[in-house]
Amino acid sequence: MLHLPLLMDTPVAELAFRTHCPYCAFQCGIRMDDTQNDDAAIVQGDPYFPVNNGQLCIKGWTSSALLKHPERLLHPLIRDSRKEPFREAGWDEALDRIAGAMIRTREQHGADANGVFGSGALTNEKTYLLGKFARLAMGTANIDYNGRYCMSSAAAGGNRAFGIDRGLPFPVEDIAKTGLAILVGSNCADTLPPIMQWFEKQKSNGGRLIVIDPRRTPTAKVADAHLATTPGSDLALANGLLYLAIEEGYLNREYISARTNGFEAVRATVLGYHPAHVERITGVSEAQLRLVVRWMAAAESCMILSGRGAEQHSKGADTCNAWINLALAFGLPGKPNSGWGCLTGQGNGQGGREHGQKADQLPGYRLIENPAHREAMAKFWNVPEQSLPRKGKSAFELLDSLGPLTPNPSPERGEGSSTGGIRTLLVMGSNVAVASPDMPRIAERLKSCDFLAVCDSFLSETANVADVVLPVYQWAEESGTMTNLEGRVIRRRRTARPPRGVRGDLDVIRGLAERLGCAEQFSFATTREVFDEFRAATAGAPADYSGITYEKIDAQDGVFWPCPSEEHEGTPRMFAERFHHSDGKAKFLPVEHREGGEKPCEAYPYFFTTGRYKEHYNSGVQTRRVEKLLATQPLPRLQLHPTVANRHSILSSSVVTLESRRGRAEFTVDISQDIRPDTLFAPFHWGGKGAANALTKGALDPTSRMPEFKLAAVRIASVGRGSEGGTE
Ligand code: SF4
Repeated sequence: MLHLPLLMDTPVAELAFRTHCPYCAFQCGIRMDDTQNDDAAIVQGDPYFPVNNGQLCIKGWTSSALLKHPERLLHPLIRDSRKEPFREAGWDEALDRIAGAMIRTREQHGADANGVFGSGALTNEKTYLLGKFARLAMGTANIDYNGRYCMSSAAAGGNRAFGIDRGLPFPVEDIAKTGLAILVGSNCADTLPPIMQWFEKQKSNGGRLIVIDPRRTPTAKVADAHLATTPGSDLALANGLLYLAIEEGYLNREYISARTNGFEAVRATVLGYHPAHVERITGVSEAQLRLVVRWMAAAESCMILSGRGAEQHSKGADTCNAWINLALAFGLPGKPNSGWGCLTGQGNGQGGREHGQKADQLPGYRLIENPAHREAMAKFWNVPEQSLPRKGKSAFELLDSLGPLTPNPSPERGEGSSTGGIRTLLVMGSNVAVASPDMPRIAERLKSCDFLAVCDSFLSETANVADVVLPVYQWAEESGTMTNLEGRVIRRRRTARPPRGVRGDLDVIRGLAERLGCAEQFSFATTREVFDEFRAATAGAPADYSGITYEKIDAQDGVFWPCPSEEHEGTPRMFAERFHHSDGKAKFLPVEHREGGEKPCEAYPYFFTTGRYKEHYNSGVQTRRVEKLLATQPLPRLQLHPTVANRHSILSSSVVTLESRRGRAEFTVDISQDIRPDTLFAPFHWGGKGAANALTKGALDPTSRMPEFKLAAVRIASVGRGSEGGTE
């Protein structure tokens, strides 16, 4: 059988010089030279890219180490049963096998028994094509992605309040000009270090910084004030601040009346958040609360920036709305150098949530349950509207549904409920076995599905339990567009030649679509043709990219969406005149504090919270393979307060085993005054014995379906002498 020819990308003789870092949403500009020999390409910060201005963090500096890494997968891997080892196979055999499993599943169990799990690391083009593949070629509703674990609560909060979700509605350069920056649950000094240049400029311009975090992080250490909140209390804190803003007469009444709806309901709600009550919930004193609102009132401009610490909770979306309420009450959104925004985490976390790999979305941030949006995409794809699947399961629920359909009445699910139902899963660019909460449960689920296919460059923990693994291009070997945390669409340019034997994710999607009988709808000749279809698909949608071209991106160092025509320059700053609800106004939303999915008790007396090291990225598939990063940060450490150490006779060399109701994990300890005595912290970059996500719970936010990564109840099960060895 003849197959579609592979996509044409940049010819090797014309490799580019400027591209962007593969990791986080700051998408630092880098310059790199490919090398003909076995050495890693030389990476430098791009001094002309106006976001990082030549700065990189250690992950960016070392990013090329993975391109010619000895563990790189260079052939598709196949096995006939999961008890057997993998064997190398050709591409046709591997793709035939995956497509065969999808067809079998569809025939035996229905289209929705096939699932797709994407990633916030995929380019916009891949995001678009993966969504089109799921809806048109597979006909399944069940596609979601790991951005659900990352930015979904901020997105839900922004959509509810402003009618649109763009993480930062202003460029990062505005941080330097703001009078007061409030970081809620973000340790950006570790997670996106080059952003600190903008806070340093802000400080030298006379601005102030407040950091809200249960830990005294490197970011908190450079702040003018640090509020060490109880984990899971950020919503109550915001409501308490609004209570004081009302009491002290700091409201911007003109703005509230002209530009917003719904303030009275919020006012009635926050009147229950007296400082003494808020202090009991948050651990923040009345004096500190008053200081914050006074600084907010005194500042000429003020921005509130939200991070995963505030968002990865079972009330993350409401927490975002509580902070947006406070911002609206002070008249900040739309005012110069002011507003509320989210510091997106993953490389294409923003674009990844806009173009159709999310269970409830179609390209351009259209909603799959909105009749007009369904009609628009059906027309664009030239298919009947009724043929488009409806909303599918969110990321954790999708993984938790792997396996045969089984009746399972449980306290969590209720009478008459069942588990399972998704029999075949395709994972693209995500290490779900380590990145998901309640890892032991997800590990069982992965084992119980009929067929698992994974696209990755390395044998990740997820690939290791798959039936077929496809080796794919890395960032420097492919072209495409990404959307950074500012909503700036940039070009990922091919700067390195891919090794023989690997293919791009776009080719994987096309090869599978062809085998499912949909070659015509995926018959692109070049990566640029995919880009052109993708941007045309967004015309008239909330996230309108239709006017963005490669040439404009090159000329402007990126284009901010919305950009509805080729004559339009893009939109760096939003909300100056109107919000995106039909009446142009922003919405206040009354939200109440509530307990998390779990709280400390006699049996599990400590809060457990997770986060990132500056040397590692997400589930660590890449960074745990970079020698320099591993040498600097070789293993996950448990940060705990000296009072906890004394109570349990823990020494700095001890190895501590933690237990939650779901699992156990083992860490070498780091005794520190920089954390609350009721809270323990560990990074989530590792699997195996040191897996923080073995402890976390899949309690979901009812709106965003974000799992509660930042709050679990744990106990110290045992204390042993340390070996300082690895934990994988
Ligand atoms: Fe920049 Fe993020 Fe890459 Fe670090 S990981 S170099 S902050 S894009």
